[in-house]
Amino acid sequence: MAAGRRRVSVFGATGSVGCNTVSLIEDAGGAETHEVVALSGAGNVALLAAQARRLRARIAVTADPARFAELRAALAGSGVEAAAGPDALTAAAAEPADWTMSAIVGAAGLAPGLAAAARGGVLALANKESLVCAGELVKRVCAASGAVLVPVDSEHSAIFQCLRGERATEVERIILTASGGPFRDWTRAAMREATVAQAQAHPNWSMGQRISIDSASMFNKALEVIEAQALFDVAEDQVEVVVHPQSVVHSMVGFRDGSILAQLGPSDMRGAIGFALNWPDRATLPVARLDFAKLARLDFAPADPERFPALRLAREAMAMGGLAGAVFNGAKEAALDAFLDGRIGFLDMAGVVEHVMADVGPEAAGHMAGYGLETVMALDAAARRSARDRVASN
Ligand code: NDP
Ligand code: MG
Repeated sequence: MAAGRRRVSVFGATGSVGCNTVSLIEDAGGAETHEVVALSGAGNVALLAAQARRLRARIAVTADPARFAELRAALAGSGVEAAAGPDALTAAAAEPADWTMSAIVGAAGLAPGLAAAARGGVLALANKESLVCAGELVKRVCAASGAVLVPVDSEHSAIFQCLRGERATEVERIILTASGGPFRDWTRAAMREATVAQAQAHPNWSMGQRISIDSASMFNKALEVIEAQALFDVAEDQVEVVVHPQSVVHSMVGFRDGSILAQLGPSDMRGAIGFALNWPDRATLPVARLDFAKLARLDFAPADPERFPALRLAREAMAMGGLAGAVFNGAKEAALDAFLDGRIGFLDMAGVVEHVMADVGPEAAGHMAGYGLETVMALDAAARRSARDRVASN
């Protein structure tokens, strides 16, 4: 390894966050300045191979074992090692690196994220599901290895930035902003008929399909409330949500003296990803600069619990405690699969999650601390089974 090159790995490199991460690494000198240890994808093998060739990665892993031959062929002659399957993913995450991006979508990101956390370095965490499913475990593993968790979700990056140099004991509340998504002003009757295409058309942010639809249902904000509690060690009632259609204020922290700090920026994920990539420094980033003369106004409104039951369900999961978050997330992922497949309507997703929380939630609530990955994944699987049964009986 050339002296001074920083060792980096990107999991979920072929996704929306992953591609932005790869492009920022390339802007910062690519393989000249970075030793790229591992890149991962799933179905998009051609893109993964192209990224791995450009960045001269040591290992490229597809999560899908059936795509191994295709990946190996795409990497022929490149010197990049091809690997496939969930175990290879976790093994690649355990390879030493100074900085890791965890940007796989869903609970599938938990095992590789934990492997990266266990071997230390900076863990840039976009995969909010890790914290929703197993916040205590992720933090425990980081504490043992000395890994530093830097959030990438724009709201949590904002809060993390507002808390720099502040005392945690002086924090009164955390205020997450929510764009309200494409259905912010829709009636429930209109949402009942919503199509996948309408649900994934986010007004402000360009993101992967799943998180875009979660933004429309506000399940994304629901996950983020749980994520904030896990990251910043606050009580459930210290995390508030406010709808802010412009997505300029990325989130805020209120202190006990009544003062509020906010972080603002364009709605471009390269801001939060670039912050995590350069932490603890700030580097010049290729994002637009806010022009307050053009911005003119910033609006805020309460979230409507009637039209968006996801927020209430998240509060119920937090009140249950323990591993209820894993059940909440597993149910949400299975409900989203069913919506994407046309088996249920947009509004039915919340009904499925509510059913699963009543069915599997109590069993999860007892696991307060000291549990392992297997326990989390067993509850995730139980939640998905319960959700599928519910969908089938609809
Ligand atoms: P995408 O769907 O765009 O990308 C997901 C990535 O994960 C792809 O690399 C995909 O591979 C890979 N992947 C999919 N399924 C699996 C699996 N079962 N095992 C391993 N890898 C898999 O997602 P996003 O980039 O939008 O989101 C990634 C994470 O970041 C999510 O947790 C999301 O909530 C969070 N996040 C995203 C934001 C955004 O702006 N997009 C903002 C804030 C948070 P392939 O494409 O090759 O199939
Ligand atoms: Mg977010």
